[in-house]
Amino acid sequence: MPDKPSKNEEEYFARRDAELLRQQRDAAHRAAVDAERRSHHMKCPKCGYDLITGEWHGVQVDQCTHCHGIWFDAGEVETALAHPEPTMLARVFRTVLRGVSGAKASDP
Ligand SMILES: [Zn+2]
Repeated sequence: MPDKPSKNEEEYFARRDAELLRQQRDAAHRAAVDAERRSHHMKCPKCGYDLITGEWHGVQVDQCTHCHGIWFDAGEVETALAHPEPTMLARVFRTVLRGVSGAKASDP
């Protein structure tokens, strides 16, 4: 019976199809995870509104335009705490609390 595929051939194609399906599912999963991650970029983790980035006294701060939550990049709090001037972090917070309207006024 030359037209009938052998059991080995059937297994080969079944395995190949399963592998192709697995690769397609993996690619779709990676794309979905990436899209999900990108949809969160520069969004407030608390309320989901946009974050704006500002630099206050050399400390990078992200602040929510809606709930005004304040987010520090990794190491920024340590940088402010290690500043030779002990009140540095307090000055950063005071300046940030003045608002997110882009006003980066210097301390009084
Ligand atoms: Zn928020």
